[in-house]
Amino acid sequence: MTEAAVQERPITSRQIVVGGVPIGGGAQVAVQSMTNTMTHDVEATVQQVYDLNAAGADLVRVSVNGSRALKGFKEVLWRTPVPLIADIHFDYRMALGAADAGAACVRINPGNIGGDDRYRAVIEKCAETGAAMRIGVNSGSVEKRFWDLPKAEALVASALQKVEIAEEMDFSNFKVSLKASHVPEMVEANREFRRHSDAPLHLGVTEAGTKLPGAIKSAAALGQLLPYGIGDTIRISLAEDPVEEIPVAYQILSALNLRHRGPNVIACPSCARTLGFDVIGMAAQVEDKLKHYEDHFTVAVMGCIVNGPGEARDADYGVAGGKDDGLIFAKGRPLKKVHRDEIFSALFEEIRKDGWK
Ligand code: SF4
Repeated sequence: MTEAAVQERPITSRQIVVGGVPIGGGAQVAVQSMTNTMTHDVEATVQQVYDLNAAGADLVRVSVNGSRALKGFKEVLWRTPVPLIADIHFDYRMALGAADAGAACVRINPGNIGGDDRYRAVIEKCAETGAAMRIGVNSGSVEKRFWDLPKAEALVASALQKVEIAEEMDFSNFKVSLKASHVPEMVEANREFRRHSDAPLHLGVTEAGTKLPGAIKSAAALGQLLPYGIGDTIRISLAEDPVEEIPVAYQILSALNLRHRGPNVIACPSCARTLGFDVIGMAAQVEDKLKHYEDHFTVAVMGCIVNGPGEARDADYGVAGGKDDGLIFAKGRPLKKVHRDEIFSALFEEIRKDGWK
């Protein structure tokens, strides 16, 4: 089975490698999330790192917000199936400790890491240990010296000032993020930053909200950046179990035809032509069963024979509902009519035959 061809996009960034995962320079967009366990609770944190990785996270960020957390982080590092990024705010010594412990990357926030001398100390440590660094600028915590600027400009100015210092120190193993909860601001900041630097970009709409609004805001922002080569790794921040962020990330990447993980379900909205076939229920049932599949193929659930066969034929598998039955399609060909009660099993029989998993 081959993965569906993905969209080529302009290469606008240089590449770094974070714990074996290439970021930027034409690499596929990497998906990441962040644990929300107490890092000193090693068992819970390791479990969540595994869950995130199983869902498809390429990288996982873990908060190192004090010496207890740093101790926990060191233990989690030994047991992780995926490269870890230490998330640091306020205390630059935590960044030094995390890099020393073997973090693949250290995320610092220029707005709260302290003076540039502390920032330089983190760079020196990363250069020594081989850890990458993320310069993570956030609209809620921009450095005071940039407060007079409009938000997007302040994000860019803060990031570029830190980029300049890193480059003066001959350190290029870093990526940058410019996050805001306001989509147009976030988009403007990332576009503007890209005009000045080819550093790989981590994208995210910060504090995007609960699942539906968070997913929509993230899609609206990423859809304006990723196809144009702006953005090399993403996080979808949701007020949810972080594992729920990963399928949203892949839905967005798949909708942009940049990366696929799992099947694509097409379903019509249903209307009076359905003659009673429960499109909505069937689509939900099909989607639920397919959420455990990693292969990428398309399944169409269509309510009638007016538009249904056309769509179903274009999909890898499909059904077009009739009065008491449904017409099953596979690889563009109508196969058979089955009773309404047998549609689900007939559809999955075809999917199973092809060995998808
Ligand atoms: S495919 Fe048929 S049932 Fe579905 S919305 Fe279109 S016309 Fe209505």
